[in-house]
Amino acid sequence: MIRWMAGFIGRHTSPCQQVAQRLSDAMDRRLPLHQQLDLRLHLVVCALCERYRRHLETLRRLMRDPRDVGEGWLPDVSLPPDVRERLKRVLNSS
Ligand SMILES: [Zn+2]
Repeated sequence: MIRWMAGFIGRHTSPCQQVAQRLSDAMDRRLPLHQQLDLRLHLVVCALCERYRRHLETLRRLMRDPRDVGEGWLPDVSLPPDVRERLKRVLNSS
């Protein structure tokens, strides 16, 4: 039943290419209700578009605050204060 519903939804929502464009549009403006519903239904059954949506959200978040990478994305790259000071001195002296 779930597989049938996923197939039904997949056949009756917009194709992935159009969904990708709408995901970008949705970042810039509020979509009409029917497009929002179409998008949400498509994302329920399409793992690739859902992954693309998560990537777009991450990029958007990083554009606002590059330090906001979320957990598990990058290792902690902050330097200990003493190393930071030494590095600053070396860079300022050159
Ligand atoms: Zn898709």
